[in-house]
Amino acid sequence: MKALFVLPFATLDAPAWLHEALETRALATITRNCPCGATYERGEIRPGEVHTPAMLHEVDCPATDPRLGSAALLPEWIELHAIGVDLPDEAAA
Ligand SMILES: [Zn+2]
Repeated sequence: MKALFVLPFATLDAPAWLHEALETRALATITRNCPCGATYERGEIRPGEVHTPAMLHEVDCPATDPRLGSAALLPEWIELHAIGVDLPDEAAA
């Protein structure tokens, strides 16, 4: 099964911490494994469904940078990317 991930990434002029935070989140979301050890169950996926998985990252993980909560500064530094990924068979319904 092929899945489409729509994920936020930092624009070229965004600060380094934002690149690291969003790239860490994207990697963790696609692979289900964050470098900090966090993971999530993908569960059953059916064509057309939308999933918004939640991961419990370690406090010092870049994916939980507290500056991500500063919504007012983020929109100009964030762009959405659509990434198609072939999922392993166990993720298919
Ligand atoms: Zn993490």
